[in-house]
Amino acid sequence: PRLPDNQVQLSARMVAYGDGQFLLTVRDVTRLHRLESMRRDFVANVSHELRTPLTVITGYVETLVDDDSLDPVVHRTLESMEFQAERMRRIIDDLLTLSHLETRDDGVAEQTAVPVPALIGAIEEDAHMLVTERDLTIRVEADAGLWLRGARNELHSAFSNLVTNAIRYTLDGGTITLRWYADDQGAHFQVEDTGIGIPPDHIPRLTERFYRVESDRSRARGGTGLGLAIVKHVLQRHDACLRIESVPDQGSTFTCDFGQARVLRKVAPVASDN
Ligand code: ADP
Repeated sequence: PRLPDNQVQLSARMVAYGDGQFLLTVRDVTRLHRLESMRRDFVANVSHELRTPLTVITGYVETLVDDDSLDPVVHRTLESMEFQAERMRRIIDDLLTLSHLETRDDGVAEQTAVPVPALIGAIEEDAHMLVTERDLTIRVEADAGLWLRGARNELHSAFSNLVTNAIRYTLDGGTITLRWYADDQGAHFQVEDTGIGIPPDHIPRLTERFYRVESDRSRARGGTGLGLAIVKHVLQRHDACLRIESVPDQGSTFTCDFGQARVLRKVAPVASDN
């Protein structure tokens, strides 16, 4: 949230030395806070402003590309322009999603009841065409009565980013497993793939904006480099965290851990005779 002009932001840290002594450090982070909110506004404004001209360009290109009488070289050039414009649209959309997530006032997601099993079903259905084309198998193991308190659109965006990544970084013929289950810690959404995996030293940096292990593969498969940054923000707003386990050339598992406070149990209505 934006800091009013007449307020300052302080950051305090206390260290206990065990012998009854404490060290308290207080830092004035007002300037940092203001710069950070200027950066967020700037990114949001630029993304918003770029959208309109891009829509116009895409419209012209789409009209031209449909013309059958075009020289093949011109046609290929237009198709490439269409592809790049679509890539740019995805980056702008992801940047806007990220800045919306960052600028929500209280930083905490709403608490509506979200039917996660239905959400997973919808995500699986959206992926159906891609999965069939690439001979991938998607398995779903979901606890039907397990729901979450949260923001449906945000959770959809986070979960579908993880599924899209699993598809993107798994070779043809591989398997992706989606799990939704509860234990005594809380509820967990897990995406496991048999894909290319991630070298261990890259794992801590994956949720940074535009961080990619292999830029070429990510770009060629339609990645923006912003997906996991979106996942991280959505989870933070749901007091949840992301766990990443991976073995190069064997596969990866991304798990979203939600605490008990967000878990909801829905019992299916029992049919009665009267
Ligand atoms: P991108 O749009 O490039 O996929 P993300 O933020 O979603 O961006 O992911 C960041 C990087 O993490 C990717 O570029 C890729 O290198 C790596 N990555 C993400 N998911 C997977 C996965 N399931 N398997 C292997 N690598 C992955």
